[in-house]
This record gives sequence, C-alpha cells and structure tokens, in this order.
Amino acid sequence: MVLFPLKMPAGPIRVTRFQMFLYCFLLFLLIYFLQGRKAAVGVQSSHPVFHALAMERGRGTTGLVNVKAAGPQTPLETPWGAQLVWGDSRKSVHRRAQLAQQGIHTGLLAFMVGTYAKFVRRFLSSAETYFLPHQLVTYYILTDNARGLEPPTELGPNRRMKVISIAELPGWEKLAYRRMILLAETIKDTIGNDVDYLFCVDIDQEFVAPVGEEILGDLVATLHPELFGMPRNSFPFEIEKDSSAYVAENEGDYYYTSELYGGLVSELYRLARVCSMLILQDQANGVLAKGLEESYLNRYLINHRPTCVLSPEYSWWDSALAADVPVPRLVSLGRQCEALDEDKKEEFKC
Ligand code: UDP
Repeated sequence: MVLFPLKMPAGPIRVTRFQMFLYCFLLFLLIYFLQGRKAAVGVQSSHPVFHALAMERGRGTTGLVNVKAAGPQTPLETPWGAQLVWGDSRKSVHRRAQLAQQGIHTGLLAFMVGTYAKFVRRFLSSAETYFLPHQLVTYYILTDNARGLEPPTELGPNRRMKVISIAELPGWEKLAYRRMILLAETIKDTIGNDVDYLFCVDIDQEFVAPVGEEILGDLVATLHPELFGMPRNSFPFEIEKDSSAYVAENEGDYYYTSELYGGLVSELYRLARVCSMLILQDQANGVLAKGLEESYLNRYLINHRPTCVLSPEYSWWDSALAADVPVPRLVSLGRQCEALDEDKKEEFKC
C-alpha cells in the first residue's frame, strides 16, 4: 500500500480507510508537536541584568526572558509523597478559600546587613505585588541599619513591617554562620505566635510572578535550580565526616537552596534551633561545612523531610546550569550576577 503516491492517478482519488486513519494520526502528531513548541512563557523583570540577558539571546527588546516549557520535567509529588509545587493548583484554590475564612497570617523574614540594603526596595515592592497578594503578611527585616529602609516602601492593606535591629556583623562569612542563630532568636523573642507561617528568604531577590497559597505547608523547602534533575552524586552535600552537616553517599533525595524555606512558625523554629546547634558545635570543633548554612539546612531536611517541596520556579536565576521552568517566580539577583562572566559583572556592577 502506498501512503503518499508519487503519481496521482487520473479520475476521482480513492482513499482507503486505513490511509484515512494514518492521515488523521499524522495530523494529530503534528498538532501535538506544535503545541509543545508553542508552550513558552515570558517573565517580566525590571532588573537590567535580565534586559541584557534577554537581548543577548535574541529574545527581543521587551525585557522578556523566554523560558522553555518544562514538559515532563514537572513531577507533582516527591518520592515520599509530599506535594511538589509548580504554581497555583486546585489545592491552592481550596486553600485560599480556607485562609479567607481563618485569617491566616504569614511572615516573610529577610536579613538586610551592610551593602545588601540596596536590594530592599526591589524586594519589598515585588513582594507587595506577588507574594501572597491580598493576604495578611508581616515583613520582618533584620538589619544593622534601619535607615536603609528610608523612605519607607508603601504597603498595602493587611501588610505590615517590623524592623528588628541586629548588631553589625563585619564579614560575609560571619553573617552566614549567624543567620540560623539569629533566626531562632528572633522567632523566640519577637515573632512568637504572631504569625502562623514564616518564610526565610534572601533579600537579593525579586518576585517576578505570583507566589501564593500553594507554598503554605508545615515544612517547606525549595529545590536548587542548578541541581534539580541532576544525578545525586553532583549534589554538593558536605562530605567532611567530622562536620555535623555530613551526608553519606546513600542519603539525600534532593539538594535544597537556602534562598527560600519556611513553614509553620513552630517548624521553622525547630529547624533554626537544630541548625544553629549544629553550626555552634562545628564552630567549637573548628570544622565548618563548605556550603555554610545551606549544608546544615540540607542535613536537617534529610532527617526531617519537607511536607511541601517548592519547584525551582521559587528560586531561579538564568544560568547555563539552571533547569528550565515553566514560570520563574522568585529570581535571585545575587546568584544571577554570580553566573555572569567577568565583563558582564563589571557592566552590571555585580
Ligand atoms: N546578607 C546581608 N548582608 C551581607 C550578606 C548577606 O544582608 O553582607 C543576607 C541577605 O539577606 C542575603 C542573604 O544574607 O540575601 C544571603 O546572602 P548571599 O545572597 O550573599 O548568599 P548566597 O545565598 O547567595 O550564598
């Protein structure tokens, strides 16, 4: 049987049922393929780094960064049955209705020390637009210089800010080891039960798409965009056996980023307390994990698996290694800069 005859016979064309079936099948395949290619989305960012990257890749001059569809790379569940979150879902619509009734209160906590004050405005204004819009939110800003928040960012109704003064901590490494300790102290002394959920987030980030009720879980961690989908042996877990953050070869499901984690305030307090004790213990023994705080966070999350895992949409930056995601939502400007070559770093004053 010839599917596409080279010589067309004269007179009316006869098509067998089988040929008709094959034509339909091929047409279906073509439509399916084209749909898959079309599923690309745009992310709007006001940061110059993103404008440059977009233009560099010939992605137009509108400041849009196109991201390929993630297709089958969007599993909805972890191997232990926790939800793996890719944006709004039916579950979050249900959750939204519940929250509206219960008046759930969420905290968003960030450190702003030294030169990082330059990030606060973009961080807050983007959070006002995209972080749990219309919900009751309190920002907790831990800073050595409250004046860095002047003039104050205008907050919407139901949105508050608490500024918590902390001592100046010279040196980035010192702060990296102190953050967990300060987080635990702040929850105990200041936040208490004022909020139901609390998220700890790096301030050198920008919300670029909605981050809603889908992120609310008991213990929430975010997948590292450059390690999502990579083999287990590429995860930079701590390999020094003397460190309390040590992870054996047969441990660890995912590698999580320290850019965003949280959950119920009681769960986050437990996490911060355990991690700070491990850090203090290692400091006393003179063995500190190479990945700093992120190593201890990963150790903790192996022992206490998160109940809600956020996809790399919730911690993303454009780099050769970053996984393609359908909709980047929270973008790390700091790590974005790290991914640039030396010339670009200088150009964008990274
Ligand atoms: N940070 C700060 N001042 C500093 C260094 C860090 O306020 O000098 C805070 C800030 O909130 C920042 C977070 O600590 O977003 C994490 O630091 P950084 O982004 O440098 O580390 P990374 O997570 O990229 O390794």
